[in-house]
Amino acid sequence: MARIPREVVDAVRDRTEIAEVVGRHVGLKKRGHNLVGLCPFHQEKTPSFNVIPDKDMFFCFGCQLGGDVFKFLMQIEGLSFVEAVKELAEAAGIPIEERELSAAELSAIRERATLFDVLAAAGAFFESCLWTRAEGKPARDYLERRALQAETARVGGLGWAPGGWTRLIDHLHAEGFSPAQVAEAGLARTAESGRVYDTLRERLVIPIRDARGQIIAFGGRLLEGDGPKYLNTPETRLYQKKKVLYGLDMARGPIQKTGRVLVVEGYFDVLSLHQAGFGETVATCGTSLTTEHLERIRRLTQDVVLLMDADEAGLKAAERSLPLFVAAGVQPWRVSLPGAKDPDELVRTAGPEALTAALEERDPLFDWVVQRKLDAFGASTMSRDRVLDEVLPLMAEHNDPADLTRRIASRLGVHEASVLERLRKTRAGAKPTSKRPGSTQAGWRPHRDVNHLLWLLVHRYDVVADIIARADPRLLSDHAAVQPVIARLLTGEPVAGILPDLTDPGVQRALSAVVARDRLYNGAEARQAALDILVRIARPLRAARHAELGRSIAAGNTKAIADKQRLLKEERDLEIALRAKKLDLVLTLLQP
Ligand SMILES: [Zn+2]
Repeated sequence: MARIPREVVDAVRDRTEIAEVVGRHVGLKKRGHNLVGLCPFHQEKTPSFNVIPDKDMFFCFGCQLGGDVFKFLMQIEGLSFVEAVKELAEAAGIPIEERELSAAELSAIRERATLFDVLAAAGAFFESCLWTRAEGKPARDYLERRALQAETARVGGLGWAPGGWTRLIDHLHAEGFSPAQVAEAGLARTAESGRVYDTLRERLVIPIRDARGQIIAFGGRLLEGDGPKYLNTPETRLYQKKKVLYGLDMARGPIQKTGRVLVVEGYFDVLSLHQAGFGETVATCGTSLTTEHLERIRRLTQDVVLLMDADEAGLKAAERSLPLFVAAGVQPWRVSLPGAKDPDELVRTAGPEALTAALEERDPLFDWVVQRKLDAFGASTMSRDRVLDEVLPLMAEHNDPADLTRRIASRLGVHEASVLERLRKTRAGAKPTSKRPGSTQAGWRPHRDVNHLLWLLVHRYDVVADIIARADPRLLSDHAAVQPVIARLLTGEPVAGILPDLTDPGVQRALSAVVARDRLYNGAEARQAALDILVRIARPLRAARHAELGRSIAAGNTKAIADKQRLLKEERDLEIALRAKKLDLVLTLLQP
C-alpha cells in the first residue's frame, strides 16, 4: 500500500476547490449552501447530487455515494487514491514524495503518464510541422480557405502529419519513447512485412483531447490524394470513440455559461462554431451519438441542440438518437440549417447571425421525428396510425408525456384522448423497471436522532459542541459505530478528513448525507435541539432500566423498589430541569 502522509493529503484537500473539480464533470447550480446537479454515478432526471463547498465534500441523495474530492476523482476518472491525490497536488503546487509507493503502483502511474506524454509529444511535433515548416504550407492554405483563423487552429492544437513513412516515429524515438510506447498510443502501425510506419501521414491533424485537455488520440483530414477523407488513430486504453466528445475541453466553460450544448458532426464544425462565438459546441468523433456521450452531456446541461448535417446520413443520425435521449430523460432540440450542408458552412457563408436565427427556429426532436415519419408514410389514416404505433413506446418512456401527447396528437391530426388511451395501453403492456442502487450495503442502521446529532456537530459546531461534549458517552452505547465519529467531530476535526477513515458503510453514508443536508436547525434552535435529542436518545436506556427494576421487584427484591422510586424522581427532576433550561442539571440527570 502506498502511503502519502496524512498531512499532505489534508493539505491538498484544503487547497483544492471541490466545486471546481466536480464542475469539470457535472453542471452545478447553487441551492442554499450547496451546489446541486445530476449525479454522474447513477441515472436520474432530477438533481440529487450535492457538492458542499464548506465541507469539501460531495454526496448524492439518490445513490448515497459521497466523499471528498479524491473519492470523486477516483470514481469518475477511475484513478487510484494515490493518482487522485497526485493529480490535485500538482494543481495545488504541493510536492508529493513518491518513494513510499509500491513498485506496481509506480509503474502503473508512469505507464499512464507515458501514454499521455507520447501523445503530447506527437501533438507538439505535428504542430511544429504545420506552423514552422515549408511542408505545412498546403495545410495552412487549406485552413485559410476554410476561413479558420490561426488563433482558432492553435487553440484546437491543429497540426500537420508530414509525408514519408516514419517521420513521427523517428522523432518520438529521438525523444526517448520506445517503439512499444509509440505503438500503444496508436501512432504507429505494422505492415504485414513487419515494417512499422506512422499511422497518420500527409494529413491535417486534429488532436482529440479528454475533458482535462490532454491529448488522447488524433483525427487526420486528407487534403489531396487517395484514401479516406478522415482517418483517426485507433482506440486505445485512453481513447474510446463512444465516450469522447470532441471539443468538450474547450466547450465546458461556455456550456456552463450559456446553459446549453450544441452537438455537431465534425471537427471543423466545432472549430468553426467556436470561432463564430458558439463555444458551447461539441462533436462525436466519427460515430453516432451513444448513451455514454449523452451521460457526459446530461451532467453539464439538459438543453441539448442537435445540429446534424443536412444530408440523409445526418437526418438518420438525428432520428436514431431519439430513443437514447428519451431513455436519458433529455428532451433535445433539432435545428435545420437553411441553405447549408453543415453548421460550418452556414456560419461561413451567412455569418453567425444566420445560426442564431436558425437556433431560434428549433423544434423538439421528438416532433421532428414524427413529422419525418409522417412525410415518409403519407398522410392517410392508416399511415398516421402506423406513425403513432412506432412512437408510442418512446412516448411511454418520456418524462413529460402530457405536453408531448398534445403536440403529437395535433401534428397527426387525431384526438388527444385516443392517443392517451393508446399510450395507457402501451404503458400497461410495458414491463415495470425498478432499479434502486445502494440499498444492499450493510453496516450501521441510521437512526434519526443520531443523524441529527451528527448534523448539529457538523453544521452548528460552535453552538452545540460544549453540550454534546458534556453528555455522558454511554448515552450512545447502542450506536457504538458512531461513537468514534462523534468523538473526532468534537475535537473540531473537519469532516472531510474523518470520512475516508470510516469502515462502516452505514456510518459513512449517514455522515455524508448529514453533511449534504443543508438546513435542519438554525443557530438559535440548535442548542435546544441538541439537548432534546440527547433526552430522546436516553429514553430507551431508561425504559430498559424500568423493565429491569420491574423484574427485580417481581422477584421480591425490595431494594429495587427504592431504586425504582429514585428513577421516577430523576425523571420528574429532568422534566423540571428541562423546562427551566438548567443545562448542567439536565446533562447530569441524563447519565445512564
Ligand atoms: Zn447518485
